[in-house]
Amino acid sequence: IPEYAFIGRSNVGKSSLINMLTDRKSLAKTSGRPGKTQLINHFIINDSWYLVDLPGYGYARVSKTSKKKFQKFITNYFEQRQQLVSAFVLVDIRHKPQPIDLEFIQYLGESGIPFGIIFTKADKLKPKAIERYVEDYCQQLLKTWEELPPYFITSSSKKIGQEDVLNFIKATNEEIEQLRNQ
Ligand code: GDP
Repeated sequence: IPEYAFIGRSNVGKSSLINMLTDRKSLAKTSGRPGKTQLINHFIINDSWYLVDLPGYGYARVSKTSKKKFQKFITNYFEQRQQLVSAFVLVDIRHKPQPIDLEFIQYLGESGIPFGIIFTKADKLKPKAIERYVEDYCQQLLKTWEELPPYFITSSSKKIGQEDVLNFIKATNEEIEQLRNQ
């Protein structure tokens, strides 16, 4: 079963997004407190793919050792997942490109792991500001990459972007299925 992993800085809105994508209000626990999702959670969606909820990264108040441990945990996951089709890196649309996100995107790219970017909390900005933000973010990525990854503009509170993400996953799964049947 194809697997899609969701990851981002703590408090980026990952639990809310997962709840929106799965239409189940209390599936992934949300909280205002950072660092609540500690372990990897798998959700099976429509009997056809796994949504993998990876722990949030980038808490300010943790020791160097636990940061190292955490990195190892995440890289272990990515090294071992045979079924992983794509990772989605969540980015809060109000914050300018964060070094930790860019580093993580770099890691995915260098490891040959396909990824997309999900901008969260789009309801917090006006359309013009969203446009400008996304443009800037893409410029930043184009400094290192020749091609832009797929990206999605979402808001869990306003239910924006749900279809875009789900359709992307559906289309990707269909492509995989077709390749398999060839
Ligand atoms: P996580 O730590 O990444 O899982 O983030 P949560 O989903 O728990 O959300 C963190 C905070 O951001 C909570 O206070 C949410 O209510 C808020 N939040 C999440 N998504 C949205 C969104 O789309 N719009 C707005 N305005 N707030 C959001």
